[in-house]
Amino acid sequence: MLIQLHEVTYAYPSNKNKTIIQIKDWQLAQQQKHFLYGPSGSGKSTLLNIVSGVIKPTSGRVEVLNERLDKLKQHKLDKFRAQNIGYIFQKFNLIPYLNAFDNIHLAQYFAANTKKQQANADKTIMDLLEELQVNIDDCQRPVSQLSVGQQQRIGIARAFINQPKLLIADEPTSSLDQDARDSFITLLNKLCANHNCNLLFVSHDMSLQSYFDRTHALNQINLANKD
Ligand code: ADP
Ligand code: MG
Repeated sequence: MLIQLHEVTYAYPSNKNKTIIQIKDWQLAQQQKHFLYGPSGSGKSTLLNIVSGVIKPTSGRVEVLNERLDKLKQHKLDKFRAQNIGYIFQKFNLIPYLNAFDNIHLAQYFAANTKKQQANADKTIMDLLEELQVNIDDCQRPVSQLSVGQQQRIGIARAFINQPKLLIADEPTSSLDQDARDSFITLLNKLCANHNCNLLFVSHDMSLQSYFDRTHALNQINLANKD
């Protein structure tokens, strides 16, 4: 299984009385492109943070790629995440004053634990940027000087640098017009296929579901705040 949740609940420590996530059972198979949708505020980002091990559930079992994340100690969790999970954020979260190469290098640095991986880093980054058709001249400029389209490609390259088995994309298309959105999702799907990576794509926009193999409605999975 790619992801298995059982009896998972979550409340933010600052608001312990408000349960945000309450999921009885949720399973996602490997080798499929998954689409999760739900309205704003329904707990999508919170759930993604649980699945990627950024936050631990208040209770319940979280299994990702056959690893029990709720049981892992913090340093092992950090390592698991760095080595297995790629993340694309809504606003890409690139460091604006660094160029494309250095943005990706930083992500690579935190996960690589062998000298060989470190030694090959430069070539791996250049190969990825080439695969994503980022112009070599643009790689030398601070990313804040690049177009949104270029920044997206760099965000995708960064997410793939550690050869993740699971790619999580948290509403990466919400600020794009339809053409840019179509090409972004098509590119992402192509990269996932090339790199044999599972995809969990999240949006409030249900019309995107045709791009994916399986659709999950958070409102049907998450029982929090329901009578
Ligand atoms: P979505 O991604 O679907 O828009 P979120 O997971 O961001 O939803 O938010 C779900 C709920 O959790 C909201 O009610 C939000 O106010 C609350 N929430 C999100 N982040 C925090 C936080 N750091 N502390 C307390 N409450 C939060
Ligand atoms: Mg969100």
